[in-house]
Amino acid sequence: MSYEDIFSNPPKEIGRLREGLLAWFGANGRSLPWRVNYLPYQVWVSEIMLQQTRVETMLPYYHRWMARFPDAASIAKAPEDEVLRLWEGLGYYARANNIRQSAQILVREYGGEVPCDFELLRRLPGIGPYTAGAIMSFAFDADYPAADANAGRIFARLFDIATPSGSTEFARAVRGFSSKLLPPGRSRDFNQALMDLGSMVCSARAPSCVQCPVSFCCAAFRKGLTGVRPVRAPKAIPTHIVRAAVVMVLEGRVLIRKRPETGLMPHLWELPGGEVAEGDSPEQAIGRIGGDELCLRLGPLESLGVILHAHTSFRVELHAFLCNGCDPSPHSVETGPQLRWVSIDELEKFAFPSAHRRIIGAFLERVKEQ
Ligand code: SF4
Repeated sequence: MSYEDIFSNPPKEIGRLREGLLAWFGANGRSLPWRVNYLPYQVWVSEIMLQQTRVETMLPYYHRWMARFPDAASIAKAPEDEVLRLWEGLGYYARANNIRQSAQILVREYGGEVPCDFELLRRLPGIGPYTAGAIMSFAFDADYPAADANAGRIFARLFDIATPSGSTEFARAVRGFSSKLLPPGRSRDFNQALMDLGSMVCSARAPSCVQCPVSFCCAAFRKGLTGVRPVRAPKAIPTHIVRAAVVMVLEGRVLIRKRPETGLMPHLWELPGGEVAEGDSPEQAIGRIGGDELCLRLGPLESLGVILHAHTSFRVELHAFLCNGCDPSPHSVETGPQLRWVSIDELEKFAFPSAHRRIIGAFLERVKEQ
C-alpha cells in the first residue's frame, strides 16, 4: 500500500499491523528504568536525554541523574555547574540547562509536577511537538503520536516513502502515519513498539525482516528496497577546523573561562584557546590569545598532543599545550565569573567539553610524572 492509499482508503492490514506490533512489544519490548512506573518526571528526563543520543549511551547518565536529582524540585535548586558536570560527555549541553530551567518553572507554577497537558508541555524550554507527544503518550498513556527517528525509518519502509528523510514532506508523511495508525487507548505501547522495533529489528543498516512482525505489509521488503529506504539526503562535506588550547599554570592554579550562553556547548568551561588562522602555527595562535585576549606574557609551550574530534558538520584538529610560566602579574587578566584561576583539584568540579577534559587528563598525567 502506498501512503496516499492509507489516507484515502485505509486497508484492513492496519488492524493486523497494530496487533502485530503490540503483540511483539508485549513479548520483546526493552526493559528500561523509566518504563517501570512511567513516572512523568522520569519519562521527561529520559526523552530529553535521548534526543540525538542512543539508549546505551544515555543509560549511565540517566542512572547518575536520577540518583542525584530524583525529582523536579531537586534539579530546580541545583547549581548550574553541578548540572553540567553531571551531563559532561553526553553532548548537546543546552538540554541540561533546559531541564533545569523547566524544573524551575514546574516548581514555580505546577507544584513540581509535570503537567498532563500537551500545550503546557510545549511551553517548557526544550520541549518540541515530538517530546510533548512522547510525554503525553508514555507518562499519561494519552492518545498522542510520538514518532522518533526509529518510527520514521519504519514508516519509510512500510509505506515506501521516496522523499528524503529530513525533508518537510517526509516529516509530514511520518506525522500523518503516526496519527492514523495510533490505536485508541494503546498509545503508550504502540509508540514504544515502533521505537523498539526500529532499534532492535528494523535497524538502519541491516533490518532483520525475517523476524519482523509487520513484514507482511512492508512495501520496501516486498520490493527489495529496504537498503534505500528511508532516502537519505546527501551529506555535506564536513569543514576542517584547526584550533589550539592551552593549560596555563601559575602558582599551582589553572586559568579557565566560561563559554558564552549561546552557540556550541553553552555555559561549559574551557581552557583558553581559539581557532588557528590560515598561515599561523598553533603556537602563534596561543601566543596571540595569551597576549591580546588575556594580557599575559606566556613562557615556553610544551605540547600535550593533538586531539581529533568530530561534530555534526565539522571536524576539529585541536592542538593542546601546557604553559608553566605566565606574566608575573597575572592579575592584569580580568578575572571574574567568566574567567577564573582554579586549583588543580578544583578542575574536577567544572564541566568541560570532552576534548578539553582529555587535555586536562593529559595535563594531570604530566603533573603526576613530575
Ligand atoms: Fe523493517 Fe524489514 Fe520489518 Fe519492513 S519488514 S518494517 S524493512 S524489518
